[in-house]
Amino acid sequence: MQFSFKNRLAFNYLISTALIMAALFVAIYFTVRYSVYSDLNKDLNREIEKHLSEIRPSNNISQWINVYEWQEKEHKEISIDPVFVQIYNPQRISVEKSPNLKFDSLILNTSLKGTAYINTYLNRQAIRQVQVPILYNHEIKGYLLIAMTLEEEQVVLNNLLNVLSLSYLVLLVSLFFITRFIAGKSIRPIAQITETTSIISRENLQLRITLPPRRDELYTLSQTINKLLDRIENAVIREKQFTSDASHELRTPLAVIKGTLEVLIRKPREKKEYENKINFCITEVDRLNNLVDQLLLLARFENQTQNIKNENIYLNALILDCLSRYSQMIRDKNLKIQSNFDKDYFICSDNYLVFVIFTNILSNAIKYSHNFGEISVSLYEADYKIVCTVSDNGIGISKEDLEKIFNPFYRSAQSGDHDIKGTGIGLSIVKRLCDLLKFEINITSDIAKGTTFRLYMNNTPAK
Ligand code: ADP
Repeated sequence: MQFSFKNRLAFNYLISTALIMAALFVAIYFTVRYSVYSDLNKDLNREIEKHLSEIRPSNNISQWINVYEWQEKEHKEISIDPVFVQIYNPQRISVEKSPNLKFDSLILNTSLKGTAYINTYLNRQAIRQVQVPILYNHEIKGYLLIAMTLEEEQVVLNNLLNVLSLSYLVLLVSLFFITRFIAGKSIRPIAQITETTSIISRENLQLRITLPPRRDELYTLSQTINKLLDRIENAVIREKQFTSDASHELRTPLAVIKGTLEVLIRKPREKKEYENKINFCITEVDRLNNLVDQLLLLARFENQTQNIKNENIYLNALILDCLSRYSQMIRDKNLKIQSNFDKDYFICSDNYLVFVIFTNILSNAIKYSHNFGEISVSLYEADYKIVCTVSDNGIGISKEDLEKIFNPFYRSAQSGDHDIKGTGIGLSIVKRLCDLLKFEINITSDIAKGTTFRLYMNNTPAK
Protein backbone atom coordinates (compact mmCIF):
# COMPACT_ATOMS: atom_id res chain seq x y z
CA MET A 1 0.00 0.00 0.00
CA GLN A 2 1.25 3.48 -0.85
CA PHE A 3 1.38 5.58 2.29
CA SER A 4 1.86 9.21 1.36
CA PHE A 5 4.51 11.31 3.11
CA LYS A 6 1.72 13.51 4.47
CA ASN A 7 -0.10 10.55 6.05
CA ARG A 8 3.14 9.07 7.31
CA LEU A 9 4.03 12.33 9.01
CA ALA A 10 0.56 12.59 10.57
CA PHE A 11 0.64 8.93 11.60
CA ASN A 12 4.06 9.16 13.27
CA TYR A 13 3.01 12.28 15.11
CA LEU A 14 -0.21 10.54 16.14
CA ILE A 15 1.60 7.51 17.60
CA SER A 16 3.83 9.67 19.80
CA THR A 17 0.90 11.84 20.91
CA ALA A 18 -1.24 8.76 21.54
CA LEU A 19 1.40 7.30 23.87
CA ILE A 20 1.87 10.55 25.81
CA MET A 21 -1.89 11.07 26.09
CA ALA A 22 -2.49 7.49 27.19
CA ALA A 23 0.09 7.89 29.96
CA LEU A 24 -1.50 11.19 31.02
CA PHE A 25 -5.06 9.82 31.05
CA VAL A 26 -4.06 6.69 32.96
CA ALA A 27 -2.32 8.92 35.51
CA ILE A 28 -5.45 11.12 35.86
CA TYR A 29 -7.74 8.10 36.28
CA PHE A 30 -5.59 6.40 38.89
CA THR A 31 -5.01 9.60 40.85
CA VAL A 32 -8.76 10.20 41.08
CA ARG A 33 -9.38 6.56 41.96
CA TYR A 34 -6.70 6.65 44.63
CA SER A 35 -8.13 9.79 46.25
CA VAL A 36 -11.69 8.35 46.14
CA TYR A 37 -10.59 5.15 47.83
CA SER A 38 -8.41 6.89 50.36
CA ASP A 39 -11.40 9.08 51.36
CA LEU A 40 -13.51 5.97 51.79
CA ASN A 41 -10.73 4.25 53.69
CA LYS A 42 -10.65 7.20 56.10
CA ASP A 43 -14.40 6.81 56.73
CA LEU A 44 -13.98 3.07 57.20
CA ASN A 45 -11.10 3.64 59.63
CA ARG A 46 -13.25 6.01 61.63
CA GLU A 47 -15.96 3.33 61.83
CA ILE A 48 -13.41 0.72 62.85
CA GLU A 49 -12.09 2.90 65.65
CA LYS A 50 -15.61 3.58 66.82
CA HIS A 51 -16.64 -0.08 66.82
CA LEU A 52 -13.42 -1.35 68.29
CA SER A 53 -13.92 1.04 71.17
CA GLU A 54 -17.30 -0.56 71.80
CA ILE A 55 -15.94 -4.10 71.70
CA ARG A 56 -14.56 -5.60 74.86
CA PRO A 57 -12.73 -8.74 73.75
CA SER A 58 -12.64 -11.74 76.03
CA ASN A 59 -12.49 -15.50 75.60
CA ASN A 60 -16.23 -15.63 75.10
CA ILE A 61 -16.99 -13.79 71.91
CA SER A 62 -20.72 -13.61 72.58
CA GLN A 63 -20.07 -11.30 75.54
CA TRP A 64 -18.02 -8.80 73.55
CA ILE A 65 -20.69 -6.35 72.72
CA ASN A 66 -23.80 -4.85 74.05
CA VAL A 67 -26.05 -5.89 71.19
CA TYR A 68 -28.88 -3.75 72.20
CA GLU A 69 -26.80 -0.61 72.42
CA TRP A 70 -25.27 -1.41 69.05
CA GLN A 71 -28.53 -2.01 67.24
CA GLU A 72 -29.89 1.17 68.67
CA LYS A 73 -27.00 3.12 67.24
CA GLU A 74 -27.16 1.47 63.80
CA HIS A 75 -30.81 2.17 63.64
CA LYS A 76 -30.17 5.88 63.99
CA GLU A 77 -27.50 6.02 61.25
CA ILE A 78 -29.04 3.65 58.76
CA SER A 79 -30.72 6.14 56.48
CA ILE A 80 -27.82 8.58 56.01
CA ASP A 81 -24.86 6.52 54.94
CA PRO A 82 -25.32 2.86 55.59
CA VAL A 83 -22.44 1.23 57.39
CA PHE A 84 -22.56 -2.52 57.43
CA VAL A 85 -20.91 -4.25 60.35
CA GLN A 86 -20.41 -7.94 60.96
CA ILE A 87 -18.36 -9.96 63.42
CA TYR A 88 -17.03 -13.44 62.71
CA ASN A 89 -15.37 -15.92 65.02
CA PRO A 90 -12.08 -17.55 63.86
CA GLN A 91 -14.11 -20.55 62.64
CA ARG A 92 -15.66 -18.18 60.08
CA ILE A 93 -19.05 -18.30 61.70
CA SER A 94 -20.94 -15.04 61.92
CA VAL A 95 -21.47 -14.03 65.55
CA GLU A 96 -23.13 -10.69 65.12
CA LYS A 97 -24.14 -8.32 62.36
CA SER A 98 -25.76 -4.94 61.97
CA PRO A 99 -29.51 -5.03 61.30
CA ASN A 100 -29.15 -3.19 57.96
CA LEU A 101 -27.52 -6.35 56.55
CA LYS A 102 -30.84 -8.18 56.99
CA PHE A 103 -30.36 -11.64 55.41
CA ASP A 104 -27.11 -10.74 53.68
CA SER A 105 -23.62 -11.24 55.03
CA LEU A 106 -20.26 -9.62 54.54
CA ILE A 107 -17.74 -12.11 53.22
CA LEU A 108 -14.79 -13.00 55.44
CA ASN A 109 -11.50 -13.81 53.80
CA THR A 110 -9.17 -15.36 56.38
CA SER A 111 -6.29 -15.54 53.93
CA LEU A 112 -5.92 -11.76 54.24
CA LYS A 113 -3.45 -10.75 56.91
CA GLY A 114 -3.94 -7.77 59.24
CA THR A 115 -6.26 -4.90 58.32
CA ALA A 116 -7.33 -5.41 54.69
CA TYR A 117 -9.43 -3.27 52.33
CA ILE A 118 -11.25 -4.88 49.44
CA ASN A 119 -13.91 -3.97 46.91
CA THR A 120 -16.70 -6.49 46.68
CA TYR A 121 -20.45 -6.79 46.26
CA LEU A 122 -23.29 -7.04 48.72
CA ASN A 123 -26.53 -8.12 47.15
CA ARG A 124 -25.21 -6.91 43.74
CA GLN A 125 -24.38 -3.56 45.26
CA ALA A 126 -20.72 -2.40 45.12
CA ILE A 127 -19.20 -1.98 48.57
CA ARG A 128 -15.80 -1.23 50.03
CA GLN A 129 -15.05 -3.42 52.95
CA VAL A 130 -12.42 -3.46 55.66
CA GLN A 131 -11.58 -6.50 57.66
CA VAL A 132 -9.75 -6.26 61.03
CA PRO A 133 -8.64 -9.20 63.15
CA ILE A 134 -9.54 -8.79 66.87
CA LEU A 135 -6.80 -9.94 69.18
CA TYR A 136 -7.05 -11.09 72.78
CA ASN A 137 -3.95 -12.37 74.54
CA HIS A 138 -2.05 -12.26 71.23
CA GLU A 139 -4.55 -14.59 69.62
CA ILE A 140 -7.10 -13.87 66.90
CA LYS A 141 -10.43 -14.19 68.64
CA GLY A 142 -12.58 -12.82 65.88
CA TYR A 143 -12.88 -10.57 62.88
CA LEU A 144 -14.61 -7.21 62.60
CA LEU A 145 -15.90 -6.51 59.07
CA ILE A 146 -17.13 -3.05 58.18
CA ALA A 147 -18.38 -2.06 54.71
CA MET A 148 -19.75 1.06 53.06
CA THR A 149 -21.53 1.41 49.80
CA LEU A 150 -19.34 2.21 46.81
CA GLU A 151 -22.13 2.91 44.32
CA GLU A 152 -21.64 6.68 44.04
CA GLU A 153 -17.88 6.48 43.81
CA GLN A 154 -18.16 3.69 41.28
CA VAL A 155 -20.45 5.85 39.16
CA VAL A 156 -17.99 8.77 39.36
CA LEU A 157 -15.07 6.53 38.43
CA ASN A 158 -17.00 4.86 35.59
CA ASN A 159 -18.04 8.23 34.25
CA LEU A 160 -14.48 9.46 34.45
CA LEU A 161 -13.28 6.36 32.60
CA ASN A 162 -15.91 6.84 29.89
CA VAL A 163 -15.14 10.53 29.46
CA LEU A 164 -11.40 9.88 29.32
CA SER A 165 -11.70 7.03 26.79
CA LEU A 166 -14.10 8.94 24.58
CA SER A 167 -12.08 12.16 24.63
CA TYR A 168 -8.94 10.07 23.97
CA LEU A 169 -10.47 8.67 20.79
CA VAL A 170 -11.93 12.01 19.65
CA LEU A 171 -8.67 13.82 20.35
CA LEU A 172 -6.61 11.25 18.46
CA VAL A 173 -8.85 11.25 15.40
CA SER A 174 -9.04 15.05 15.26
CA LEU A 175 -5.29 15.31 15.85
CA PHE A 176 -4.70 12.93 12.94
CA PHE A 177 -6.70 15.11 10.58
CA ILE A 178 -5.20 18.36 11.90
CA THR A 179 -1.61 17.13 11.55
CA ARG A 180 -2.43 15.66 8.14
CA PHE A 181 -3.76 19.04 7.08
CA ILE A 182 -0.74 20.93 8.48
CA ALA A 183 1.71 18.41 7.00
CA GLY A 184 -0.05 18.69 3.63
CA LYS A 185 0.19 22.45 3.76
CA SER A 186 3.85 22.50 4.73
CA ILE A 187 4.92 20.07 2.00
CA ARG A 188 2.93 21.82 -0.72
CA PRO A 189 6.13 23.42 -2.12
CA ILE A 190 7.41 19.87 -2.75
CA ALA A 191 4.47 19.27 -5.08
CA GLN A 192 5.42 22.47 -6.87
CA ILE A 193 9.04 21.33 -7.16
CA THR A 194 7.91 17.97 -8.59
CA GLU A 195 5.56 19.69 -11.01
CA THR A 196 8.20 22.11 -12.31
CA THR A 197 11.00 19.54 -12.59
CA SER A 198 8.71 17.08 -14.38
CA ILE A 199 8.05 19.54 -17.21
CA ILE A 200 11.69 20.53 -17.64
CA SER A 201 13.21 18.94 -20.72
CA ARG A 202 16.09 19.71 -23.09
CA GLU A 203 13.90 22.23 -24.88
CA ASN A 204 12.89 24.34 -21.88
CA LEU A 205 15.96 24.06 -19.69
CA GLN A 206 15.68 27.75 -18.78
CA LEU A 207 12.67 26.99 -16.49
CA ARG A 208 13.36 27.35 -12.77
CA ILE A 209 11.50 26.43 -9.59
CA THR A 210 9.82 29.40 -7.90
CA LEU A 211 11.51 29.82 -4.52
CA PRO A 212 9.15 29.48 -1.51
CA PRO A 213 8.66 32.69 0.53
CA ARG A 214 10.21 31.31 3.71
CA ARG A 215 13.93 30.55 3.89
CA ASP A 216 13.63 26.99 5.18
CA GLU A 217 14.84 23.55 4.09
CA LEU A 218 12.48 23.57 1.10
CA TYR A 219 13.91 26.92 0.06
CA THR A 220 17.42 25.41 0.14
CA LEU A 221 16.22 22.36 -1.80
CA SER A 222 14.62 24.54 -4.51
CA GLN A 223 17.75 26.68 -4.64
CA THR A 224 20.00 23.62 -4.97
CA ILE A 225 17.86 22.18 -7.77
CA ASN A 226 17.92 25.56 -9.54
CA LYS A 227 21.72 25.64 -9.29
CA LEU A 228 21.86 22.11 -10.68
CA LEU A 229 19.62 23.23 -13.56
CA ASP A 230 21.99 26.17 -14.16
CA ARG A 231 24.90 23.78 -14.48
CA ILE A 232 22.97 21.41 -16.75
CA GLU A 233 21.84 24.32 -18.93
CA ASN A 234 25.40 25.59 -19.20
CA ALA A 235 26.66 22.13 -20.11
CA VAL A 236 23.97 21.76 -22.78
CA ILE A 237 24.76 25.24 -24.18
CA ARG A 238 28.46 24.38 -24.26
CA GLU A 239 27.71 21.08 -25.96
CA LYS A 240 25.54 22.78 -28.59
CA GLN A 241 28.25 25.40 -29.13
CA PHE A 242 30.87 22.67 -29.45
CA THR A 243 28.82 20.73 -32.02
CA SER A 244 28.15 23.82 -34.12
CA ASP A 245 31.81 24.95 -33.88
CA ALA A 246 33.05 21.45 -34.76
CA SER A 247 30.80 21.16 -37.78
CA HIS A 248 31.78 24.65 -38.88
CA GLU A 249 35.50 23.88 -38.49
CA LEU A 250 35.13 20.62 -40.41
CA ARG A 251 33.03 22.10 -43.18
CA THR A 252 35.23 25.11 -43.90
CA PRO A 253 38.30 23.22 -45.21
CA LEU A 254 35.99 20.82 -47.09
CA ALA A 255 34.22 23.74 -48.77
CA VAL A 256 37.58 25.34 -49.61
CA ILE A 257 38.86 22.08 -51.14
CA LYS A 258 35.62 21.57 -53.07
CA GLY A 259 35.66 25.17 -54.38
CA THR A 260 39.30 24.91 -55.47
CA LEU A 261 38.75 21.60 -57.27
CA GLU A 262 35.59 22.91 -58.98
CA VAL A 263 37.43 25.96 -60.28
CA LEU A 264 40.32 23.74 -61.39
CA ILE A 265 38.11 21.39 -63.42
CA ARG A 266 36.28 24.10 -65.35
CA LYS A 267 39.00 24.46 -67.99
CA PRO A 268 42.45 23.04 -68.72
CA ARG A 269 45.24 24.85 -66.90
CA GLU A 270 49.00 25.14 -66.71
CA LYS A 271 50.89 22.36 -64.95
CA LYS A 272 52.24 24.89 -62.46
CA GLU A 273 48.75 26.04 -61.57
CA TYR A 274 47.61 22.42 -61.04
CA GLU A 275 50.55 21.86 -58.74
CA ASN A 276 49.82 24.99 -56.74
CA LYS A 277 46.13 24.21 -56.30
CA ILE A 278 46.78 20.56 -55.43
CA ASN A 279 49.40 21.59 -52.88
CA PHE A 280 46.93 24.03 -51.39
CA CYS A 281 44.33 21.23 -51.18
CA ILE A 282 46.89 18.95 -49.51
CA THR A 283 47.55 21.61 -46.84
CA GLU A 284 43.82 21.89 -46.24
CA VAL A 285 43.46 18.10 -46.01
CA ASP A 286 46.36 18.08 -43.52
CA ARG A 287 44.62 20.74 -41.50
CA LEU A 288 41.42 18.71 -41.60
CA ASN A 289 43.33 15.60 -40.60
CA ASN A 290 44.90 17.40 -37.70
CA LEU A 291 41.54 18.75 -36.61
CA VAL A 292 39.89 15.32 -36.74
CA ASP A 293 42.80 13.87 -34.75
CA GLN A 294 42.38 16.51 -32.07
CA LEU A 295 38.61 16.10 -31.95
CA LEU A 296 39.03 12.37 -31.52
CA LEU A 297 41.54 12.98 -28.74
CA LEU A 298 39.12 15.33 -27.01
CA ALA A 299 36.25 12.84 -27.31
CA ARG A 300 38.46 10.04 -26.03
CA PHE A 301 39.42 11.93 -22.88
CA GLU A 302 35.85 13.03 -22.22
CA ASN A 303 34.89 10.02 -20.15
CA GLN A 304 38.25 8.49 -19.52
CA THR A 305 38.88 8.14 -15.85
CA GLN A 306 39.61 4.43 -15.87
CA ASN A 307 42.60 3.61 -18.01
CA ILE A 308 45.03 6.12 -16.55
CA LYS A 309 48.37 4.41 -16.18
CA ASN A 310 50.84 4.99 -13.38
CA GLU A 311 54.29 5.06 -14.86
CA ASN A 312 57.53 6.51 -13.67
CA ILE A 313 58.14 9.45 -15.99
CA TYR A 314 61.53 11.09 -16.42
CA LEU A 315 60.32 14.64 -17.05
CA ASN A 316 63.64 16.12 -18.26
CA ALA A 317 63.81 13.56 -21.08
CA LEU A 318 60.11 13.86 -21.93
CA ILE A 319 60.42 17.65 -22.39
CA LEU A 320 63.55 17.35 -24.54
CA ASP A 321 61.82 14.65 -26.62
CA CYS A 322 58.84 16.96 -27.22
CA LEU A 323 61.15 19.83 -28.24
CA SER A 324 63.11 17.62 -30.64
CA ARG A 325 59.87 16.95 -32.56
CA TYR A 326 59.68 20.65 -33.35
CA SER A 327 63.39 21.09 -34.11
CA GLN A 328 62.66 21.99 -37.76
CA MET A 329 60.28 24.79 -36.73
CA ILE A 330 62.71 25.99 -34.04
CA ARG A 331 65.46 26.17 -36.60
CA ASP A 332 63.21 27.88 -39.19
CA LYS A 333 62.22 30.59 -36.68
CA ASN A 334 65.74 30.86 -35.23
CA LEU A 335 64.39 30.39 -31.73
CA LYS A 336 66.66 30.20 -28.69
CA ILE A 337 65.58 27.46 -26.31
CA GLN A 338 66.81 27.57 -22.75
CA SER A 339 66.25 24.59 -20.49
CA ASN A 340 66.79 25.11 -16.76
CA PHE A 341 66.68 21.71 -15.14
CA ASP A 342 68.72 21.84 -11.91
CA LYS A 343 68.33 18.09 -11.38
CA ASP A 344 66.50 15.01 -12.64
CA TYR A 345 62.76 15.12 -12.02
CA PHE A 346 60.43 12.12 -11.99
CA ILE A 347 56.70 11.89 -11.59
CA CYS A 348 54.33 8.97 -11.37
CA SER A 349 51.63 9.45 -14.00
CA ASP A 350 50.43 8.44 -17.47
CA ASN A 351 53.33 8.90 -19.86
CA TYR A 352 51.24 9.37 -23.02
CA LEU A 353 48.83 11.89 -21.46
CA VAL A 354 51.68 13.93 -19.95
CA PHE A 355 53.37 13.87 -23.35
CA VAL A 356 50.20 15.25 -25.02
CA ILE A 357 50.06 18.08 -22.44
CA PHE A 358 53.70 19.10 -23.00
CA THR A 359 53.44 18.80 -26.78
CA ASN A 360 50.54 21.26 -26.81
CA ILE A 361 52.13 23.78 -24.43
CA LEU A 362 55.57 23.67 -26.09
CA SER A 363 54.19 23.73 -29.65
CA ASN A 364 52.11 26.81 -28.74
CA ALA A 365 55.18 28.55 -27.28
CA ILE A 366 57.05 27.85 -30.54
CA LYS A 367 54.07 28.70 -32.75
CA TYR A 368 53.24 32.00 -31.06
CA SER A 369 56.90 33.18 -30.76
CA HIS A 370 58.37 35.74 -33.11
CA ASN A 371 61.40 34.85 -35.20
CA PHE A 372 64.61 35.02 -33.10
CA GLY A 373 62.44 34.71 -30.00
CA GLU A 374 63.42 33.01 -26.75
CA ILE A 375 61.70 30.15 -24.99
CA SER A 376 62.75 29.03 -21.54
CA VAL A 377 61.64 25.76 -19.94
CA SER A 378 62.30 25.26 -16.22
CA LEU A 379 61.70 22.43 -13.80
CA TYR A 380 61.80 22.92 -10.06
CA GLU A 381 60.15 21.75 -6.86
CA ALA A 382 57.76 23.88 -4.77
CA ASP A 383 55.26 22.91 -2.04
CA TYR A 384 55.91 19.18 -2.56
CA LYS A 385 54.98 19.57 -6.22
CA ILE A 386 57.07 19.55 -9.36
CA VAL A 387 56.55 22.75 -11.31
CA CYS A 388 57.30 23.20 -14.99
CA THR A 389 57.26 26.70 -16.49
CA VAL A 390 57.28 27.37 -20.22
CA SER A 391 57.91 31.07 -21.01
CA ASP A 392 58.05 32.73 -24.39
CA ASN A 393 58.42 36.34 -25.52
CA GLY A 394 55.92 35.95 -28.33
CA ILE A 395 52.64 37.64 -29.23
CA GLY A 396 51.06 37.24 -25.76
CA ILE A 397 47.40 36.86 -24.77
CA SER A 398 45.04 39.67 -23.74
CA LYS A 399 43.41 39.64 -20.27
CA GLU A 400 39.93 38.96 -21.71
CA ASP A 401 41.21 36.04 -23.78
CA LEU A 402 43.04 34.43 -20.87
CA GLU A 403 39.75 33.12 -19.45
CA LYS A 404 38.56 31.76 -22.77
CA ILE A 405 41.56 30.08 -24.35
CA PHE A 406 40.72 26.74 -22.66
CA ASN A 407 37.32 26.65 -24.41
CA PRO A 408 37.20 24.38 -27.45
CA PHE A 409 37.74 26.24 -30.74
CA TYR A 410 38.59 29.51 -29.04
CA ARG A 411 41.41 31.38 -30.76
CA SER A 412 42.57 34.83 -29.75
CA ALA A 413 42.29 37.74 -32.13
CA GLN A 414 46.13 38.10 -32.04
CA SER A 415 46.63 34.62 -33.49
CA GLY A 416 44.44 35.67 -36.43
CA ASP A 417 46.27 39.01 -36.75
CA HIS A 418 49.62 37.25 -36.98
CA ASP A 419 48.14 34.68 -39.37
CA ILE A 420 49.15 31.77 -37.17
CA LYS A 421 47.18 28.64 -38.07
CA GLY A 422 45.51 26.48 -35.45
CA THR A 423 42.31 24.75 -34.42
CA GLY A 424 41.72 26.17 -30.93
CA ILE A 425 41.42 22.67 -29.48
CA GLY A 426 44.93 22.08 -28.11
CA LEU A 427 44.45 23.91 -24.81
CA SER A 428 41.01 22.40 -24.16
CA ILE A 429 42.69 19.00 -24.44
CA VAL A 430 45.42 20.22 -22.04
CA LYS A 431 42.77 21.41 -19.55
CA ARG A 432 40.85 18.16 -19.69
CA LEU A 433 43.99 16.08 -19.21
CA CYS A 434 45.14 18.25 -16.30
CA ASP A 435 41.77 17.69 -14.61
CA LEU A 436 42.12 13.99 -15.25
CA LEU A 437 45.67 13.77 -13.86
CA LYS A 438 44.94 16.28 -11.04
CA PHE A 439 47.56 18.72 -12.37
CA GLU A 440 47.11 22.44 -11.90
CA ILE A 441 47.72 24.82 -14.74
CA ASN A 442 47.98 28.58 -14.72
CA ILE A 443 48.93 31.20 -17.30
CA THR A 444 50.29 34.70 -17.02
CA SER A 445 50.61 36.73 -20.16
CA ASP A 446 51.20 40.25 -21.39
CA ILE A 447 50.15 41.18 -24.85
CA ALA A 448 53.16 41.64 -27.16
CA LYS A 449 55.52 40.70 -24.32
CA GLY A 450 55.09 37.01 -23.86
CA THR A 451 53.33 34.16 -22.11
CA THR A 452 54.24 31.85 -19.22
CA PHE A 453 52.50 28.53 -18.62
CA ARG A 454 52.94 26.95 -15.19
CA LEU A 455 52.15 23.32 -14.65
CA TYR A 456 51.97 21.96 -11.07
CA MET A 457 52.35 18.21 -10.98
CA ASN A 458 51.86 15.86 -8.06
CA ASN A 459 54.64 13.52 -7.22
CA THR A 460 52.14 10.82 -6.32
CA PRO A 461 49.77 8.99 -8.68
CA ALA A 462 46.50 10.77 -9.65
CA LYS A 463 44.29 7.98 -8.21
P1 ADP B 1 45.52 26.71 -31.43
O1 ADP B 1 46.92 26.98 -31.01
O2 ADP B 1 45.36 25.53 -32.32
O3 ADP B 1 44.81 27.91 -31.92
P2 ADP B 1 45.11 26.18 -28.61
O4 ADP B 1 43.95 25.62 -27.91
O5 ADP B 1 46.42 25.48 -28.45
O6 ADP B 1 44.68 26.28 -30.11
O7 ADP B 1 45.28 27.65 -28.13
C1 ADP B 1 44.15 28.47 -28.04
C2 ADP B 1 44.55 29.92 -28.20
O8 ADP B 1 45.35 30.35 -27.11
C3 ADP B 1 45.41 30.18 -29.39
O9 ADP B 1 44.63 30.41 -30.53
C4 ADP B 1 46.18 31.41 -29.00
O10 ADP B 1 45.43 32.55 -29.31
C5 ADP B 1 46.31 31.31 -27.52
N1 ADP B 1 47.64 30.82 -27.09
C6 ADP B 1 47.96 29.60 -26.66
N2 ADP B 1 49.28 29.55 -26.34
C7 ADP B 1 49.79 30.77 -26.58
C8 ADP B 1 51.11 31.35 -26.42
N3 ADP B 1 52.15 30.66 -25.96
N4 ADP B 1 51.26 32.64 -26.74
C9 ADP B 1 50.21 33.35 -27.21
N5 ADP B 1 48.98 32.89 -27.38
C10 ADP B 1 48.75 31.59 -27.07
